Amino acid sequence: RNGELVIISKRKSAKKHNSAIKSSFFSTLRFRIVVIMLVLSIIPSVIITNAVCSTYLNMAVTSRTAIVRNQCIMLSNQIASGDYLTDASNDIINSEIDMLTSIYGGRIQIIDNNLKIIKDSFELDRGKYMLSSAVINCFKGQEYSNNDEDNGIVEMALRITDPSSEESDTMGVMLISFSTREITTNYAILQRNATIVLGIIVVMIIVFGLLFSGILVRPFKKITNAINSLMLEPIHVNDYDETRQISDAFNRLIVQVKDMDDNRQEFVSNVSHELKTPLASMKVLADSLNMNPEATLEQFREFMKDISEEIDRENAIITDLLSLVTMDKNAGDIHVENTNINALIELVVKRLRPLADMNNVELIVDSFKTVEAEVDKSKIMQIVSNIVENGIKYNKPDGGWVRISLNADHKYFYLTISDSGIGMPQEATEKIFERFYRVDKSHSREIGGTGLGLAIVKGAITMHKGMIRVTSTENEGSTFSIRIPLAYVA
Ligand code: ADP
Repeated sequence: RNGELVIISKRKSAKKHNSAIKSSFFSTLRFRIVVIMLVLSIIPSVIITNAVCSTYLNMAVTSRTAIVRNQCIMLSNQIASGDYLTDASNDIINSEIDMLTSIYGGRIQIIDNNLKIIKDSFELDRGKYMLSSAVINCFKGQEYSNNDEDNGIVEMALRITDPSSEESDTMGVMLISFSTREITTNYAILQRNATIVLGIIVVMIIVFGLLFSGILVRPFKKITNAINSLMLEPIHVNDYDETRQISDAFNRLIVQVKDMDDNRQEFVSNVSHELKTPLASMKVLADSLNMNPEATLEQFREFMKDISEEIDRENAIITDLLSLVTMDKNAGDIHVENTNINALIELVVKRLRPLADMNNVELIVDSFKTVEAEVDKSKIMQIVSNIVENGIKYNKPDGGWVRISLNADHKYFYLTISDSGIGMPQEATEKIFERFYRVDKSHSREIGGTGLGLAIVKGAITMHKGMIRVTSTENEGSTFSIRIPLAYVA
């Protein structure tokens, strides 16, 4: 059971191969699903978290600045109307300044139009002069505001103007600085919490991803197990469209493999039968000589001649078989060269003329034009030789003709080999290219046929991407029409 042995050993090596691929988790579909889930969830989460945190920071600083600024504007109105710039002893205003600075963790300095600091909530610089550009620009009408992120401070310079007068002369400047530490601390806490949440999300995605991907790939495992465990039985894993398609493809493959297996078994049994037939004849001939002690020299000669013919037959079968097997094994092994087909036909005809003469068959060659083609010389010779030889062998007992005609167009060359022979029934024309098929087994054997000649022809034509067709009428003859591309198609 050669065929089955091959399949089993192939399956074993496939298993080995499988386990070699399985070794790394990182190359599995599960790993990829987990990675995709992580990427798809982590990237947006990080972006959203960062956006939320930085929006919080900006909004908190901006709103704190606006609140402080509004309070300070109200305070500056009080300062302008309460004559505070000439006498900074106004208790209400002073207590309001203290209250503001303590609420917002800041410092307020009031500068009069002589650039003298008349009030400093820190009580450090009172009486000194302030010559900073922010203050000078403020007196020129340009107020100032700056968020110093590095030191966590917002600084502002506000003009003090008389709210009751139309003119907006700067009477003094209020320098304010307040801390944003509390906001940045909140921001850091927010970020840390977000990172913890992200970490938890990552762990959850990995756990769920592994579970989820395990469920997702389960049908694929089912397919692998089915392929590994069953003896070429059809599988039906219809969980997803994809697994159904794989199952269908596998089932089609099984049918093909089974067909191939059947063909191989049939071939093997045909080969054994064909090889045994000449051996059995030789055995009968040799035994009958051995068992007859009175056999004459004449009988010995006659029997030995028969044995020699059987050896020739055995030899012919083995040669044809080898030819077929090499063609099967090295399907791509073709030695293409530019060949003159007319000369090649002449050579075949020259070789077969003695056989034709012996059978009283006339060989006629019609070359309509000179044909050069890229072909494997020996294979084309085999094709022409086998078909012409058949034309001679299967001709009428009292002789006839075999006509070989050659023609070509810009793409193909055409060989037509017709004979005036015994022909064959219509149904046989579809089978004669099968291995060991013969229309009349005993007749074919009698004339030394192996049943492999046309199978070799078919193989050689397929290698050239050509075509062969046969038409035949019983007792009238057969015509083999061949078409082969002039330029070799790989
Ligand atoms: P074989 O070695 O038996 O000739 P082939 O494969 O060459 O094997 O041919 C297969 C069978 O086709 C032959 O046995 C024969 O019956 C039939 N056949 C082939 N060529 C011809 C032909 N020119 N005329 C009639 N029958 C043919």
